[in-house]
This record gives sequence, C-alpha cells and structure tokens, in this order.
Amino acid sequence: SAFGALGLDSEIVKALGFQGYEKPTPIQEQAIPAVLKGRDIVGLAQTGTGKTAAFSLPLLQNLLENPTDLKPRSARALILSPTRELALQIHTAIKEYGKRMPLTITSVIGGAPIRKQMQALSKGVDVLVATPGRLEDLVDQKALRLDQTNFIVLDEADQMMDIGFLPSIKRILSKVATERQTLLFSATMPKAIKELSNTYLDSPVEVAV
Ligand code: AMP
Repeated sequence: SAFGALGLDSEIVKALGFQGYEKPTPIQEQAIPAVLKGRDIVGLAQTGTGKTAAFSLPLLQNLLENPTDLKPRSARALILSPTRELALQIHTAIKEYGKRMPLTITSVIGGAPIRKQMQALSKGVDVLVATPGRLEDLVDQKALRLDQTNFIVLDEADQMMDIGFLPSIKRILSKVATERQTLLFSATMPKAIKELSNTYLDSPVEVAV
C-alpha cells in the first residue's frame, strides 16, 4: 500500500486499514520516511493535516525496532502538547495505532491527580504524552527522569510559546538525552520557534503542507 511504500511495517499498515486510512496525507508522505531514517524534523502544519499520525506511526515503529528494557520512572519517547485536550487526543490516537503493540503509553496532564500519574510512571513507559507544566512537576518530584528519553516531539510549538511554555520547553530539552531524535511541529514559524529549532534540532528536514 501507499503507507507501506513509506517504509511502515505491515502490522502498522494493517492497523491503519482498520482505522479506515486509505492513503497518507501530504505531511505523512513527507515526514514518515524521514522520521524512520532517524532525522530531526521541523514541520509547518496545522491541525487537521494528519500530523499526529505523521509523527506517531514512525515513532511507534522506531520503538518496536529498538527494544529496550524500561528504566523505572523514565519515558523512551515524550510528546509535549500545549493543552490537556490535545494531549488526551494524541494519547487516544496513539493508543489506537499501537493497540496490538507491546508498548506502554500514558499521559500526564495538569488538573488530574498527580499520585496516579506517579504510579503510572513508576515502572517506566515507552510513550509519554504530556503538558509541560505537569511534566516538570513530576521531574521536580523525582517521579520522572528524562535522561532515558531519546525521542521527543514538540507539538503545536507556537501555541506552547503563546501560553508561556517556552522556558519550560528549553529546560525539558536540556534534560532529555543528547543522543535523540527531535520533531517540532508548528502552525506558524515565529522567530522564537525558528531559534528553538536552530538550537535544539540537528540538521532538521523541513516539511511544510
Ligand atoms: P490531525 O491533524 O493529526 O489532528 O488529524 C486529523 C484527523 O485526520 C484525525 O481524525 C485523523 O484520525 C485523521 N487522519 C489522519 N491521517 C489520515 C489518513 N491518512 N487518512 C484518513 N484520515 C486520517
């Protein structure tokens, strides 16, 4: 299929069939092969373009292809989102894509009980979807370490900046593993986001739809 031609594994392609996805969207066509190759990405894309699948599908495949024992209170992949609503949407989508995969996925968002989140992180997780404030709370309380995180997605970076999360994002980026893959998605590319990308991404592939 067209998804298979992008390099996605047949099990993932099959799961997409069950979701009713027939062919990749333009952002998926551009981003999936690059993410599978391990490249950093800067994606200029709005919501509704299929960007969640564009980063989630190759992320899941990369995790499956590199099995590792989870370290307590760690996350192999981290997805940062500006709002609780978006974080939960991403969590739901990834849970669906990864339904038949031996991967643990959880989300930590502000406003929800932190104790439960600490519990969910205690053995470590493969994929963590988070809002920056709560993520930093958990790191400060030693419920989470970021040095084992070598895959990070900044989703809706411009919106995170507008909410005032830029300092938080920079602190988080300075704590995740230096050997990592970093994906940044934004609907607009203001100077501060361009600078963030120049500082924290490694020769990113630029994708725009
Ligand atoms: P997003 O831009 O990630 O919020 O996705 C927008 C919507 O498009 C979601 O409801 C997805 O489930 C759906 N979607 C994403 N990729 C595809 C695809 N290749 N074919 C059909 N629907 C898709």
